[in-house]
Amino acid sequence: MAAGALAVPKLLAGGASAADAMAPSLKTSLDACTPPGDALQGLLERNKRFSKAWQALGEGVSPKKRMALKVSMFEEGCQIDRMALAEGQRPWAALVSCADARVAPEWIFSAGSGELFQVRVAGNNAYDDGIASLEYAVAVLEVPLILVLGHSGCGAVKAAMASEPLTPLLEDLLKPIRASLKSGDDLTQAIEGNARFAAAQLTKRSAVLKEAQANGKVTIKSAFFDIKSGRVSLLD
Ligand SMILES: [Zn+2]
Repeated sequence: MAAGALAVPKLLAGGASAADAMAPSLKTSLDACTPPGDALQGLLERNKRFSKAWQALGEGVSPKKRMALKVSMFEEGCQIDRMALAEGQRPWAALVSCADARVAPEWIFSAGSGELFQVRVAGNNAYDDGIASLEYAVAVLEVPLILVLGHSGCGAVKAAMASEPLTPLLEDLLKPIRASLKSGDDLTQAIEGNARFAAAQLTKRSAVLKEAQANGKVTIKSAFFDIKSGRVSLLD
């Protein structure tokens, strides 16, 4: 194993009975898996765990080691009991992210069911129904953080930069992305600009979110997810 690579968790080394003995108990409280302290730091810490395992996954990795790396993404092993989840949710962060199959928030933030409230659409736009969903997340569920997440190689932003004819619905979808474009932007700059633009739209178009931000009840940030490294970096 290369220096700095993740150690294979003992969980997989000892067989099923050892794994059962080490398995943490299910959490019956809806916020039992919420990281202590700042939600943004919590997301970034979780992403570090993901990206470390993500970078170690590659050609030549045995199926056993691959499975161990995947387990290490969730090494905290926190899981809320389904019976508790059937009664309600208490997410600790909200994401506005792309519909792209490579940008699954639970995966890149090592989170389980009931932890992350999500609005997903191609190009991670701040569209009306998405903003309304976030109003519910902040006003009713008291989610303290909204992170707008752009990502490397975003096809929606690429399409917005091109001038090929699209369906009327796709043209509508790309309008806010085109509004965020600056001349001379390369793809990565356009993706970052689009995430910043979407984050700014949230408080511009929602009085609820604007007030919550002013009162310190919610923090709104934008970030960039690099698929190759698995790393999330803040944009502002
Ligand atoms: Zn995308």
